[in-house]
Amino acid sequence: MSKLIVCFLSICLISCNSENDTKILRKAVQSSDLQTLQNIDSLLQIASLGNSTKSKVVKSVNFKKIDKNILLGKLDYKKDSNFSIVNTKYSSKTIYLRNEVLLKFDEMYNAALKDSIKLLIISGTRSFNHQKHIWDRKWAKNIMKMDSISTIKEILKYSSMPSTSRHHWGTDIDLNNLQNSYFEKGEGKKIFDWLVKNAFKYGFHMTYDNQEESKRTGYKMEKWHWSYMPISEQYLLQFNQYIKYEDICYFKGSKFACHEDIDIIKNFVNGINTDFKKTINVTE
Ligand SMILES: [Zn+2]
Repeated sequence: MSKLIVCFLSICLISCNSENDTKILRKAVQSSDLQTLQNIDSLLQIASLGNSTKSKVVKSVNFKKIDKNILLGKLDYKKDSNFSIVNTKYSSKTIYLRNEVLLKFDEMYNAALKDSIKLLIISGTRSFNHQKHIWDRKWAKNIMKMDSISTIKEILKYSSMPSTSRHHWGTDIDLNNLQNSYFEKGEGKKIFDWLVKNAFKYGFHMTYDNQEESKRTGYKMEKWHWSYMPISEQYLLQFNQYIKYEDICYFKGSKFACHEDIDIIKNFVNGINTDFKKTINVTE
């Protein structure tokens, strides 16, 4: 029976990828038949990478064009069949992720559990409006004490500008704890060490590593933030191709996004750990 399901899903995913098919996939994701989910995993890889699974590089020319609004987080992901709610065993909150990311996370979660590591998702997809809410609240708190550029720099230490967050894409997750110090000793260190050693096997990559070592620009180190690279790399490529500064708007201080001291696209959207060769190899 499961072979039949796999066969049916393969036809859906590879040949048409219609709204109905993603609904079927979503249902499978939400079902408890994890074995079936693992069986269709390779098919999802094919679907998400545009049939280029033999390539060492995820920059597939066949990856279809992503709508600008989706790149900017302006979508109702709760009603989008490409997204599903994270299982309660991974999180106590109502969190959504892209179906493909959830499937891979499930695989990673089970592997970690075998090593007595319990991974918990504490944040996933966030919309533009959600990020704007966070941003405007921090803006109001800081703008009383400093000028606009300093306010933006202060907020950007740990929060993204609306339109520029990787959490908009449904590919990125925050795991277990939002303090770097948690991951530096005891249980937290065990979790972090496991992720560094194993997460790439499942396509996940630590986005914001130690800036002193990698020399990247942008956000400070976040040991909790992991990205599913086979899809997020495509989102970044298309963000760079299609999003202009005039698209980053409708929140406090948005006119400074292109200011030379901020240059949000160059310094922050692209200020990521690029040492993901190991992650890419998972798609071979
Ligand atoms: Zn994050």
